[in-house]
Amino acid sequence: RFLEVPQAPPDAILGISEAFKADNSPQKMNLGVGAYRDEEGKPVVLGAVREAERRVLEDPTENKEYLGMGGIPEFCRLSARMAFGEGSAALREGRNATIQGLSGTGCLRVGGEFLSRFYPGPKIVLIPTPSWANHRAIFERCGMQVQQYRYYKADTRGLDFEGMIEDIKAAPEGAILLLHACAHNPTGVDPTPEQWQGILDAALAKKLLVFFDSAYQGFASGDLDRDGYSIRLFCDAGLELLLAQSFAKNMGLYGERVGALTVIVGDSAAAKKVESQLKITARQMYSNPPRHGASIATRILADPQLYAQWKVELKGMADRILTMRQQLYQALQEVGAPGDWGHILRQIGMFSYTGLTKAQVENMTNKWHVYMTFDGRISMAGLSSSKCGYLAQAMKDSVEN
Ligand code: PMP
Repeated sequence: RFLEVPQAPPDAILGISEAFKADNSPQKMNLGVGAYRDEEGKPVVLGAVREAERRVLEDPTENKEYLGMGGIPEFCRLSARMAFGEGSAALREGRNATIQGLSGTGCLRVGGEFLSRFYPGPKIVLIPTPSWANHRAIFERCGMQVQQYRYYKADTRGLDFEGMIEDIKAAPEGAILLLHACAHNPTGVDPTPEQWQGILDAALAKKLLVFFDSAYQGFASGDLDRDGYSIRLFCDAGLELLLAQSFAKNMGLYGERVGALTVIVGDSAAAKKVESQLKITARQMYSNPPRHGASIATRILADPQLYAQWKVELKGMADRILTMRQQLYQALQEVGAPGDWGHILRQIGMFSYTGLTKAQVENMTNKWHVYMTFDGRISMAGLSSSKCGYLAQAMKDSVEN
């Protein structure tokens, strides 16, 4: 019956890891996947995570029963507080419906399903050009129409703010606007606070419903509050909005699938009704979320000491990435790579959008064994000091040929 099923295309990012594995060169580097590595290129389990996990395992009251459809209530409360801030009026007034979901992706999907069923406005989602590749797929799968707004400007390797505002102004009234809360993937280009205000004004004028994707809170600046700026600006302005939060990167809980989905609405009665629908949506998709990773995250968020330790470790990861930016920039100067590489210093978060073309990326991979996505994106978090020189040489060779 299934003989005619077509082969699915390889995943743009996971396919790179496959090719990387098959390469026998000792110099090979995988800068494709967005996962934090230490100086030796090894995956990291944070100290705060290890300690929280130890406590989970030793707690005699912990068990393996099902969680409720919405996950651990304390996890939901603390995740919302981390995103919206201690002083958030929306949280104080009970205007949030928050459920635990399957990391960022699962929360985007449940949010999309909820909107496709209950959003009274146009079922059109506007995503940036470019965006994380899964955004389009997720929202289309939810039956929404996906359109794009200008975001990245190749000439400046920065934000196309005018283009973005023009496209938002031209959007259908009431459409859904997907925004990366910070550390935009793949470009590493974020709006300034003034530009965020401009985006807010434009969104308000068109009565857009904002859906924040927050996969990197704390990873952009090393500071959770600073990285929550855009979310708080919009929420404190009184907007209804959605937020998909991932703890994959900032707690390094990638494979544990820890996330939270929040819908901010007009009053607490509506929040209760929305929460009931989010739970039913989860029930029909996967019944209830896994408990282990969220139990770890809850303990970190709830315990002042573990929370403080986590913040230090998070800042350490963000700082190492900044150092990598400086060292790569320096190495590019030293080898005399033609062109201006200032964007490597300006871009933030896990990635740099190098500006390398597809042909240049092919040279990087085929000749130099450097694996990266064809759009020229490299994961700064996958780089180490000892490899900056080699990478710079590979980049120089690739832009010259
Ligand atoms: N959104 C963006 C922008 C991302 O970069 C990622 C991770 N690559 C995600 C969402 C989702 O990641 P996860 O499901 O692992 O939390």
